[in-house]
Amino acid sequence: MNTARSDYDVVILGAGLVGMALAFALARHGFAVALLERSALAAFEGPAGAEDWDQRVYAVSPGSAEFLRGLGAWQRLAADRIAPIELMDVHGDGGGAIAFSAYELGERALAWIVENRALAGALVEIVRTTAHLDVLAPCEPTTVAWSADAARVTLADGRSLSARLVVGADGVRSWVRREAAIAREPQSYGQTAIVANFAAERAHRGRAFQWFVEGAGVLAWLPLPGRRISIVWSAPDALAQELLALDAATLSARVGAAGGAVLGELTLITPPAAFPLYFLRLSSVIGHRLALVGDAAHGVHPLAGQGVNLGFGDAATLAEVLGARGPVADAGAPILLERYARKRALPVLSMQIVTDGLVRLFAPPALKLLRNRGMRFVGSLATVRRLLAQPALR
Ligand SMILES: Cc1cc2nc3c(=O)[nH]c(=O)nc-3n(C[C@H](O)[C@H](O)[C@H](O)COP(=O)(O)OP(=O)(O)OC[C@H]3O[C@@H](n4cnc5c(N)ncnc54)[C@H](O)[C@@H]3O)c2cc1C
Repeated sequence: MNTARSDYDVVILGAGLVGMALAFALARHGFAVALLERSALAAFEGPAGAEDWDQRVYAVSPGSAEFLRGLGAWQRLAADRIAPIELMDVHGDGGGAIAFSAYELGERALAWIVENRALAGALVEIVRTTAHLDVLAPCEPTTVAWSADAARVTLADGRSLSARLVVGADGVRSWVRREAAIAREPQSYGQTAIVANFAAERAHRGRAFQWFVEGAGVLAWLPLPGRRISIVWSAPDALAQELLALDAATLSARVGAAGGAVLGELTLITPPAAFPLYFLRLSSVIGHRLALVGDAAHGVHPLAGQGVNLGFGDAATLAEVLGARGPVADAGAPILLERYARKRALPVLSMQIVTDGLVRLFAPPALKLLRNRGMRFVGSLATVRRLLAQPALR
């Protein structure tokens, strides 16, 4: 969109899922918002064919689904393209196991598996048609400069926008974060996630599986509608390259065997895609007229399927804090940003400790006996299972 306006309450850089959700949530509170994205948003659009499945899927928590419903995005998703996770079996690398059940936790689903294309498409439709919200995509921000009362973002085409608050929603390698001189860089896990979809011989019945495979990372099978599954294999980089080079039949056999053939034979239905994995923990997600959200604010390993859920939590919280600003007219007021940072500190830190802790716990061979015994013990205690599951649900 070409817009004549150049003065905003909030300029958000990055129209990923988190940036789009935040932009809409803020515009709905009456803030004048500009959403800047490097790529063309139209790339996400278009109906999917019946046998055309996006291999990029998310496990969306019930809490995030509620947030997205409140934005009007969840209702736009086709019900027959979403699958609930009703049960989840997690297996250690030496006989340890722990199972989670939505029924036991009083939930309809532990999470919902949703295609990236569908979720992004729903949010694109919303942000494109919202008052107080200008979408500038594609555009290339070149500089951002902060003064006492405002921030100014200039674009490669010469435009210049001012805002009371700049939000970095531009992913784990955030340009905004660097411009704000927050020096911390994401650390590689030395793993690459391979994602792909398969048709399974046997029905999954709403069950997800996860295996910590000795020396081979973490493999998750997530239910898709019908007898289909989506996998995320967070594999050591060398193994990931090996998996990517396999032909369809060999990759199917390899993934099926790694999961003990629990769903019979697998047949690859999408090409695999690869995502390098990073860990990022910042000491602060705010600065002068600056807030970071989503992967720009924290990088977590995908083994718990929580990255975008944490990002939606950031978006919901920042919108809630700014929306309830009372007599504070300035969207970049330190008191509001500090409130946002305080509210997000614990949920993000605890999720990072759990996910990163699990990655480290399952790395050294010397701890094999201990971790699998621990898993069996934890798995036998319903209350502990509940405590572990709660943060991931909301
Ligand atoms: C294999 C894998 C599986 C995952 N599974 C799950 C899951 O099941 N559940 C879950 O909750 N999370 C999951 N995640 C995590 C999730 O993918 C991320 O947390 C989420 O995509 C982050 O969204 P975001 O909007 O913050 O950032 P991004 O999706 O990275 O979006 C950033 C946007 O900013 C744009 N951008 C970048 N730089 C600029 C710039 N300078 N100017 C303008 N625009 C810019 C980019 O083009 C992009 O559109 C998974 C991750 C991986 C790798």
